[in-house]
Amino acid sequence: MANILVVLEQRDGTLKRVSHEVLTAGRELADSVGGELHAVVLGPESLSTDGLGVYGADKVFATLDARLELYQPSAYLATVAARVNEGDYDAVLLGATALGKDLGPRVAARLLCPFASDVTAIAHDDGIVVSRPVYAGKAVYRLRISGTPCVITVRPNNFAPAESPRAGAVERVALSRDPVANERTVRVKEPDSAALDVSEAPVVVSGGRGLREPENFTLIEDLAAAFGNAAVGASRAVVDAGWRPHSEQVGQTGKTISPSLYVAVGISGAIQHLAGMRTAKVIVAINRDKDAPIFKVADYGIVGDLFEIVPRLTEEIRKIRGN
Ligand SMILES: Cc1cc2nc3c(=O)[nH]c(=O)nc-3n(C[C@H](O)[C@H](O)[C@H](O)COP(=O)(O)OP(=O)(O)OC[C@H]3O[C@@H](n4cnc5c(N)ncnc54)[C@H](O)[C@@H]3O)c2cc1C
Repeated sequence: MANILVVLEQRDGTLKRVSHEVLTAGRELADSVGGELHAVVLGPESLSTDGLGVYGADKVFATLDARLELYQPSAYLATVAARVNEGDYDAVLLGATALGKDLGPRVAARLLCPFASDVTAIAHDDGIVVSRPVYAGKAVYRLRISGTPCVITVRPNNFAPAESPRAGAVERVALSRDPVANERTVRVKEPDSAALDVSEAPVVVSGGRGLREPENFTLIEDLAAAFGNAAVGASRAVVDAGWRPHSEQVGQTGKTISPSLYVAVGISGAIQHLAGMRTAKVIVAINRDKDAPIFKVADYGIVGDLFEIVPRLTEEIRKIRGN
């Protein structure tokens, strides 16, 4: 009986939301394969592995060590590869995050097995079949993976975490080698503000060149703050102009995001921008040009001057949310 393995991700001793998403994807796949779902997690001693069974893990292999507070590539690679070699796995799933994008190919190369990146759907149909948007989201390819195990990274914000209680029995696994013998992650530089990350926030309010000058981004920040759970995003035009940091850029050469709500303000909707946000659940566009391409993907469009519309929208959201 083949099983599915997911690699979980933590920060500051707390599991990231993407871990629950990957567990949910893994549970669905394990059910269709008819196997168990196992999870491997590395982190500091303070990391709690409670509750992983809630999201469908039958078994959790936990390697907890003070030196694993930050992502250490060699230790993660050695631990995940050893687990795969010891178990009987059809697939290893990771989030398509900075960590997953680094670790996934390393694991696939070490195990000499197939690798599929940034997938948005996984099915089992006489083998594992994954889907992934291509050509800036204009097409979706389906890829049948021949050979097991395979390594798959799963696009964040695509699988809603769903409870599916299982035992979640935890087995402690000792480090097989010094995690920082060859190289060491010394620190992770946090963004200057404590703002939500565009790739994780459920709501993203993005601004473009239509804002005319960087100071006017306060309109975007105010609207995001009114939602309470929103991150500020930006088009490449304003990032290139130095108005906003690259960490906020949405699109082909920025971040690919799938929030529940995406509000595009003064953004034309160039294909490279759409590549990063067209899988958002609901898209709202505000643009004074009724022919702007953003309206082709928008669920709701407001044609008009953003300098009039955004303050009124912010006011209304504040009223609704009582803040
Ligand atoms: C290889 C490559 C990669 C790229 N990667 C990315 C990427 O990752 N992300 C990205 O965003 N772009 C990317 N681009 C750039 C992309 O092609 C566009 O140039 C960019 O997205 C345009 O940004 P914008 O919509 O803010 O600006 P513009 O295209 O200038 O659009 C501004 C919009 O604001 C509207 N507007 C102006 N004034 C107002 C007003 N008062 N009220 C309401 N609306 C108003 C206008 O009607 C217009 O539609 C890439 C390009 C290339 C070639």
